[in-house]
Amino acid sequence: MKKLILIVLFLSIVNLQAQERPKLVIGIVVDQMKMEYLYRFSDDFSANGFNRLMKDGYTFQNMHFNYMPTYTAPGHAAIYTGTTPSVNGIVGNDWFNRATGKDMYCTDDASVKTIGDGREKEGQMSPKNLLSTTITDELKLATNFKGKVIGMSLKDRGAILPAGHFADWAFWYSKTGAFISSTFYGEKLPDWVTAFNNEKRFLPYINKGWDLLKPTTTYNESLADDNPYEGKLYGSKAPVFPYDLKAMYEKNDAGILRATPYGNDFLADFAKKAIENEALGKDDITDFLTVSFSSTDYVGHILGPRSIELQDTYLRLDITIADFLNYLDKTVGKDNYLIFLTADHAGAENVTYLKDNKYDVKNIDSKAFIKALKEFSTVTFGADLVLDYSNFNLFFNKETIKTKGLELEKVKQNFIAFLMEQEQVKRVYTEEEILASSGTDYYLQLIANGYDPKQNGDLVILDKPGYIQYQATGTSHGTPYSYDTHVPLIFLWSEYSKR
Ligand SMILES: [Zn+2]
Repeated sequence: MKKLILIVLFLSIVNLQAQERPKLVIGIVVDQMKMEYLYRFSDDFSANGFNRLMKDGYTFQNMHFNYMPTYTAPGHAAIYTGTTPSVNGIVGNDWFNRATGKDMYCTDDASVKTIGDGREKEGQMSPKNLLSTTITDELKLATNFKGKVIGMSLKDRGAILPAGHFADWAFWYSKTGAFISSTFYGEKLPDWVTAFNNEKRFLPYINKGWDLLKPTTTYNESLADDNPYEGKLYGSKAPVFPYDLKAMYEKNDAGILRATPYGNDFLADFAKKAIENEALGKDDITDFLTVSFSSTDYVGHILGPRSIELQDTYLRLDITIADFLNYLDKTVGKDNYLIFLTADHAGAENVTYLKDNKYDVKNIDSKAFIKALKEFSTVTFGADLVLDYSNFNLFFNKETIKTKGLELEKVKQNFIAFLMEQEQVKRVYTEEEILASSGTDYYLQLIANGYDPKQNGDLVILDKPGYIQYQATGTSHGTPYSYDTHVPLIFLWSEYSKR
């Protein structure tokens, strides 16, 4: 009897272990998706997209990024490395590099070349500035490099950072309308990618134009179509439906597809091609596909979180996800894939909208702010000591400080006093304070988590809640406040939910 129990136990463990590995993991990042969208739009979602993920999967209700700045590149790096910018080195989308005295972009790599039909600079990208390994890297190591890893997005950083250092491929969208890559991954694009590009599938989307998916009355969770808080999409005359994408395309380039919901559809088309042609999820060695949907971010930035354009983008993404899940059920098999969905950051309300509703916050013009800092410096110290201001970081010109015989500490204290007089500033932290952070000051801890002393500034500025350094229309993100940090996180694996 005892033996039998042992055998049963042994068999069930073997069985359990066999089931423990999905054949394909799919990581979905929805750029700039606020947690609240899952609920705000849920009545208008289908049963098979976001609602299916929530019903059949596990939803984390209180998922927050634990660092500042909450931007796209740090977000993707954090999701896939499980670390913060202080560790993984991705301290912004771009940032000031003290060593070169120039701005650098998160995935810049001058040592590699574009492959495919992209412009020269578009493909000079790799993960070399990412200092930590990703979960996708660890999958490669764990499988002796047998598991396949492919990353894709409309944005280069949304494809490259999730796919990690050992990826088979990362593909991103060029303004030519093609998916491209870099020689970091291979000498030429796989044939199926070239074939996909040759089909020019972006054109039917552009020709179709963008009108509302559902009757206008459906969009009662948003403001009126034409409202003063919206910017204009690439040369369109007003922020109203229907959008003539053909005219926008002719005046610009295929890059306009990114700021329409069709950018997401186009990426989903490409993801299916990748699964088929790379045989993802076909054998027992786990593969990993990362898909980052960026159109939500472009639409959010330009038109804001209360626009019907944004709502329509989410209603359409819901259908795209429903269709993608259905596709996975059929091709990979319901029990064989694990999918998670999250976002790289959330986003603020439009400041003018808040102000018009009597919440006294403001948009800060970054250029005017930098000018004021430089003027203060010249008046106080007889020299412009401001080397750079970006991502809430202020960098001083240490050479000028030396040659002028000034003391860095005194310069810092003078600037802090000046900054604290500025309406939008809540706190200013010095490098020393940040590095000595003990975790008792909540926002200081988030700043410390986002701070890499080799790549960040001498002072870091925390603006008051609600204030944004951005234009008057649309919205942005980047702060450590919950409207920027609170994102969805849903895991779905049918095999797991059966237990
Ligand atoms: Zn953004």
